[in-house]
Amino acid sequence: MDNNVIQQLLDYDREHVWHPYTSMIEPLPVYPVKSAKGVTIYLMDGRTLVDGMSSWWSAIHGYNHPVITRALKEQAEQLAHIMFGGFTHEPAVTLAQQLVDITPDGLNKVFFSDSGSVAVEVAMKMAIQFWYCRQQPDKNRFLTIRNGYHGDTFHAMSVCDPVTGMHTIYSDLLPAYYFADSPAIRFHDCWQEDDIISFSRLIEQHQDSLAAVILEPIVQGAGGMKFYHPAYLKRVRELCDHYNVLLIADEIATGLGRTGELFGCNHAQITPDILCMGKTLTGGYMTLAATLCSDKVAEGLSKGSPGVFMHGPTYMGNPLACKVASTSISLLLQSDWQTNIRRIEDSLVKGLEQCKEYDWVADVRVLGAIGVVEMKRPVNMAKIQRKFVEAGVWLRPFGKLVYTMPPYIISDQEIKKLTDAVAQVLSEEDGW
Ligand code: PMP
Repeated sequence: MDNNVIQQLLDYDREHVWHPYTSMIEPLPVYPVKSAKGVTIYLMDGRTLVDGMSSWWSAIHGYNHPVITRALKEQAEQLAHIMFGGFTHEPAVTLAQQLVDITPDGLNKVFFSDSGSVAVEVAMKMAIQFWYCRQQPDKNRFLTIRNGYHGDTFHAMSVCDPVTGMHTIYSDLLPAYYFADSPAIRFHDCWQEDDIISFSRLIEQHQDSLAAVILEPIVQGAGGMKFYHPAYLKRVRELCDHYNVLLIADEIATGLGRTGELFGCNHAQITPDILCMGKTLTGGYMTLAATLCSDKVAEGLSKGSPGVFMHGPTYMGNPLACKVASTSISLLLQSDWQTNIRRIEDSLVKGLEQCKEYDWVADVRVLGAIGVVEMKRPVNMAKIQRKFVEAGVWLRPFGKLVYTMPPYIISDQEIKKLTDAVAQVLSEEDGW
């Protein structure tokens, strides 16, 4: 590709196009992409990168999978979109059926929306409306755990970690909800009941005003990449039942196999009352999210006044997105995905092992297809990203966290390329 063409594109982008979490005065560098196939990203300047991010954890089958791309093309020729008010169609119904089948037992009703943040908004509105219709309108508050992340829209922000949640400037406008200490016992450690004390006190104290508890099951993602003990989740379910509070599981990052179970909730064998999915749902092709709930929640909120659930996005149940999602889920279920995730886990453990020796590394942890190196100080994003690109890999660290969530189709050799790059770039204290 002509360097002038690339430069013109970059110049216009820098001047006019906003990128996620960036400044318009001093934007971070961006890398022009031409295409992507499998686990390889092709830059316009001819370089290739091994993808360690799955496009923010969503492209589980890699890029441009022939089966999904074909399904997308065929669906586009038949029906790209139609309003969901008053119509239904096969792609939405097939996907709903799959989701009801694969999510924890008892989640039977599916609400489609556009993005993870909106799926969370929908879940929170469902919980509030459920209690409103039961003549308990004062049950309209939320309890969550610190270090959580649930999205960037206003109400989702209100349950993100109040300190690390990047949202402190809006804090006067956000409802003040309740935050229990984040779980301290890690996934592989021995469970101790002390870990649930903070949560247990808060739910007891605020039971009368709580609509729901919301949390990310097992893996706290954008709030810190922490893996906590399944017993914590089990206790949360028990306490929610005991104090008559709904439980919302935000499986937007954990859904569809990433942690080694199909859902984070499966590690604790619990069913939440409401469950959110996004990201992986379309295998990284396009934006789509779903909020599932139990019959109890759906019927409860449909019985009282106003008698309907007050939400209805324009692109709800988009046929292209639903078709892509059901094709992607079928591909996953047809594969021996659990063995495959264990293979990725083993390779990540081996590959990241040597980072433990660096004095400036605070922790190295792996769960399923997630590998994390936590540094003792924040990394310089622009600098470290350039080094990774020079090493031929695509990783996007944040804060103190250098991590990978590769596509599930990644080979052992490609994982080695990723982990070698991490070990190499982090080996020099001034390299990042
Ligand atoms: N919940 C969780 C657990 C997430 O990881 C994210 C995205 N990182 C969201 C919600 C928000 O999803 P989206 O960016 O699609 O709005």
